[in-house]
Amino acid sequence: MKVVYTSAFVPPELIEACGFEAHRLAPRADPRAGEGALYAAGVCPFVRAWIAQAPRVDGAAAVVAGSECDQMRRGADILARRAPLPVFLLNVPATWQTEAARRYYRDELRRLAAFLEAAGGVFPSGDALAARMAAAERRRARERAAAAEAASRPAAGVPIALVGGPLLQEDAALFGLVAACGGRVAVNGLDGGERTAPRAFDPRAARRNPIEELADAYFDGVPDAFRRPDDGLHAWIGRALARHGARGLIMVRYVWCDTWHAETGRLRDELRVPVLELDLNDEVPLARYATRVQAFLEMLA
Ligand code: SF4
Repeated sequence: MKVVYTSAFVPPELIEACGFEAHRLAPRADPRAGEGALYAAGVCPFVRAWIAQAPRVDGAAAVVAGSECDQMRRGADILARRAPLPVFLLNVPATWQTEAARRYYRDELRRLAAFLEAAGGVFPSGDALAARMAAAERRRARERAAAAEAASRPAAGVPIALVGGPLLQEDAALFGLVAACGGRVAVNGLDGGERTAPRAFDPRAARRNPIEELADAYFDGVPDAFRRPDDGLHAWIGRALARHGARGLIMVRYVWCDTWHAETGRLRDELRVPVLELDLNDEVPLARYATRVQAFLEMLA
């Protein structure tokens, strides 16, 4: 049975240690999802599609949402009332500089484990969780090595960074569009990309107290636009641009998404490379912004 999630702050290791398959949902564009009230209320296309599709995933036993933005919180609330399966909202504190905030997130992960046990799983033993964490760490180490090897080879195209939140499946075509316009995505700062990987687990800490090490690795390792202050996100972007020699940044956000839109002005002020903001909508084809991407890359070439 699957547990459907989207948030980068929901650790798949914990879901697996509770006996479920962790299914990270990238919804398909669905312009008709949430017709009426949701659409009129200005709910972002991602959340509208997520509400429609999360409970329909084959084999879904439960849905877990993260509290990163008002729209996702509202989406979880709507789903909890409508969906025929249990829904859990993981509260992720926006502040991150206090021990109280860190403790709160750890407690939320324990609450999630208890929820998954009630949904038909098991409350994970320390050994089971540590084993899942070790397996995930080995996989991520292989991915990091492969990415470093790929980055060391000469590559064609103007290197740029894509930064923003989650993408609907159809919008992954942006990667192809960048390549077709003579660019190359050297930094994937979108949800699901390198920005949202947790920091490496400390093996000794993971054996000693796995849930605390799991919580700290995600809490410390994932910079995001909703965090206050958002300095961690900007520091990460600055380091990533320098490391990969990115010559421009494309900020990708959905219409109605204030969380990511609010970052664009500050990025334009503090970065030395040009910034293009794309506001995506599930009702229009990629062609709407193809000319803007092309013009941006021609300027950088
Ligand atoms: S795209 Fe923006 S508004 Fe939509 S779920 Fe993500 S952060 Fe929230």
